[in-house]
Amino acid sequence: MTLKNYDIAELRRLDVAHHLPCHQDHKLMQDLGGARIITRAQGSTIFDGEGTPLLDGMAGLWCVQVGYGREELAKVAYDQMLELAYYNTFFKTASPPTVLLATKISQLMGGNLSHVFFNNSGSEAVDTIIRLARYYWQLKGQPERNVLIARNNAYHGSTIAGASLGGMSHMHAQGGPFVPGIEHVMQPYQFNEGFGEDPEAFCQRAVDAIESKILEVGPEKVAAVIGEPIQGAGGVIIPPEGYWPKVEALCRKYGCLLAVDEVICGYGRLGQWFGFHHYGIKPDLVSMAKGLSSGYLPISAVGVADFIVEALRSVSDDFVHGFTYSGHPTAAAVALKNIEIIEREGLVERTRTDTGPYLAKGLAELAKHPLVGEARSVGLIGAVEIVAEKGTNKRFGGKEGPAGLIVRDLCIKHGLMVRAVRDSIVFSPPLVITHAEIDQLVGTIRKALDEAL
Ligand code: PLP
Repeated sequence: MTLKNYDIAELRRLDVAHHLPCHQDHKLMQDLGGARIITRAQGSTIFDGEGTPLLDGMAGLWCVQVGYGREELAKVAYDQMLELAYYNTFFKTASPPTVLLATKISQLMGGNLSHVFFNNSGSEAVDTIIRLARYYWQLKGQPERNVLIARNNAYHGSTIAGASLGGMSHMHAQGGPFVPGIEHVMQPYQFNEGFGEDPEAFCQRAVDAIESKILEVGPEKVAAVIGEPIQGAGGVIIPPEGYWPKVEALCRKYGCLLAVDEVICGYGRLGQWFGFHHYGIKPDLVSMAKGLSSGYLPISAVGVADFIVEALRSVSDDFVHGFTYSGHPTAAAVALKNIEIIEREGLVERTRTDTGPYLAKGLAELAKHPLVGEARSVGLIGAVEIVAEKGTNKRFGGKEGPAGLIVRDLCIKHGLMVRAVRDSIVFSPPLVITHAEIDQLVGTIRKALDEAL
């Protein structure tokens, strides 16, 4: 077999024989006889080896902002590979795409975030945040400020530091011990943790949980508070109005850094370049990946506030951190072109003013379905909560497993790739999705819910 000439049944056999996919039940994968082989994609649609189309309601894994099959991105990678496929930033060196991309990202972030540190994945970006936040306080003569506060059910990646910072208990249960100096607090998940509670009171309770943790740890020991603007993998948890400005105010009150993990929310997902723009806050550290290159090549970055850079520059010492592929010229060239496409096609504004509101309208109708407890979205990220009793947040439970898995499988059967998080269906389609495709997305979830009834 070759890349141009393969046999799907044989690929599935080889998949079981040789490949361990990520975040999977490996026994199940073996029982299934291997992965579904996805062979090609165009626009917002992926195709499997049988040629079956699936509308990609997940944009890959929350990342393919500009859609699939972009010749411009392939071309820029081809050209850059011939010019300078790879070089590093270890030897007091940099390449044109690396520097130009850092400049562009700084401009997009705005404010005092004038610098960028490159990595390859979201997890590595989060590792960089942890090291940078702690090192910053060492440089400021406060090495005891080394605790990071994150939220329950947050996802910050799968490296040992990312999994430690994340608040996913099932991840903490495997492969520990984890990185010390990390504390978790309540997530601002009103549907689950404050159902029926006045939103303002719930918001204050979620903010108070952070303040209590800061006081419990001791403000002089807290390096940073970190959070995803909207918790993605945790189930598209949209915080209540006013949450982020209040968290920002807490960080300023106690002098700790504010870090936001924009790996999912960045690059237009919420209808602004970054989630922190949507929520009107000014973070000190910003991780980003996914939509930065629309997933065409792996690349991630951390935006760093000027005062942190000043601290780094106040000593003649290496910050001994970075990766072989930090600032990879080809990945950087692809990311630059990806940003150019997002700008040229107005995808951020379109998400804010057109497709995002159109999706929200469809979801408002879907919310009337007897199995739907809540249907929520910001821009082009959303979730549908499945409930056993309309008007409550009561779940199905039962031995078939969470209702989310049943509805997800029905969606996939009917040509829509979405993800189940417990008893909810989550989605984040490419930013190029059309109105007709949004109708298909919402309509397929409705059809799956009808069948599951
Ligand atoms: N941070 C957030 C908010 C994420 O959603 C993810 C991945 O989904 C990560 C970090 C980790 O990114 P990666 O899988 O590229 O390491």
